[in-house]
Amino acid sequence: MWSEFSVSKLAIPAVSILIGFLAYTSQYFFLHFKSAPLQKNEVWAINIFAACIWICYYRTCFVDPGRLPAQDLGGPGPTLYPEDQATGRQRWCRRCEAWKPPRAHHCKTCKRCIPKMDHHCPWTSNCVSHFTLPHFMRFLVYAVVGMSYLETLLFERAAIVWKSRDLPSYLGPSLWQMIHLFILLVANSLTVFALFILLVRTIWSLGSNTTTIESWEIERHATLVRRARVLGGFLEGPGGIQIRIKKQEFPYDIGIWDNIKQGMGGSSNVISWLWPLAATPNRQTGWNFEVNGFEDPSVSWPPPDPDRIPLPARPSLPDESHTPQTYGSAREEIEAFNRRKMQDLDRPKFYSNVQRRKRFHDRYEQGEDDENSDEQPSGPTYGDGADEGEESWRNAEGERLRDFGVDEDVEFYDEEEVPLAVLVQQRRQ
Ligand SMILES: [Zn+2]
Ligand SMILES: [Zn+2]
Repeated sequence: MWSEFSVSKLAIPAVSILIGFLAYTSQYFFLHFKSAPLQKNEVWAINIFAACIWICYYRTCFVDPGRLPAQDLGGPGPTLYPEDQATGRQRWCRRCEAWKPPRAHHCKTCKRCIPKMDHHCPWTSNCVSHFTLPHFMRFLVYAVVGMSYLETLLFERAAIVWKSRDLPSYLGPSLWQMIHLFILLVANSLTVFALFILLVRTIWSLGSNTTTIESWEIERHATLVRRARVLGGFLEGPGGIQIRIKKQEFPYDIGIWDNIKQGMGGSSNVISWLWPLAATPNRQTGWNFEVNGFEDPSVSWPPPDPDRIPLPARPSLPDESHTPQTYGSAREEIEAFNRRKMQDLDRPKFYSNVQRRKRFHDRYEQGEDDENSDEQPSGPTYGDGADEGEESWRNAEGERLRDFGVDEDVEFYDEEEVPLAVLVQQRRQ
């Protein structure tokens, strides 16, 4: 807990120091490197890239990733799909106590539902969301292009040093200069390599209109479809309910041009995509997204997941709201109020007391050996904690839902209404 706290507090200063070190001490180095000082245009280029990086980084860190508007202010109501209505499936956030719009997820750090949440980025201490993705994207582009440029400048100097290695040392750069150049090269190369990979992945998800969390959901769905195929098309939910699993298409991929346009804030002006001061996407957007129509419009994304149905075990709390209270004094009333407030604060703990689903493989271990071997072609797909159950399911990259910053307790078990409605249906039959 302590380390998590301190690391997250240090992230923005650490990144800022790195940007400053690379952008400005490199110029100090070039200034004193007599064999090949910078040209005027090179000085301009470095400082323009640095300015773009600062602006985009600042906005990625501090632009509000979005929040659900209160329902009376035109906030989203329940998204009702005919098929979901039939099964009683609804997306409701227990923490926010609000309907969860399509593609929104509850971030554990931001402590609220974030529209089109991609992931909570530890390096910016902010969510990459419908509203911050354009800033994040520009930051990555300027960082990768700017640092690649710096890399070529550093490399040229390193080549000169290497060539003059046989000259007497008083003719070449000083020892401190060589150490400085070495540290600049190592820091710049490692950072630009890591950011380049991140940039490629982010462009890929922008082009396919798939958030990091949605990629996880797609893999999760494929796993469920595979399991259901072996078990006759149905998977068992809590309380023994049977849920039909059929393959569903990802609905938000509406073609590469429209995907990028939507992700970069809705404008078709390509220059505005790269302009560091471009406006944050309109705050009215982010609650509904165009679908591609490949899938039956009555089904919703993400597809039903029997293991994400919590079947909450609700111990009955003493309900104060229905018994009229009389207080002897104002002080007593305040104390009673504070007591209720404390109970409310405890409530998330109480609500997270959902019935955890045992791991699929633990449930089906006996007699399902064929499926088991089929299911695990490349080693275990679960976390280490044996008591964590099916929510510790990991995708091919070893990520579980909480690795993206979402609040797993409410996110993995977010289909709260399903079992109740289904159980009522069962009772009727
Ligand atoms: Zn929420
Ligand atoms: Zn967040």
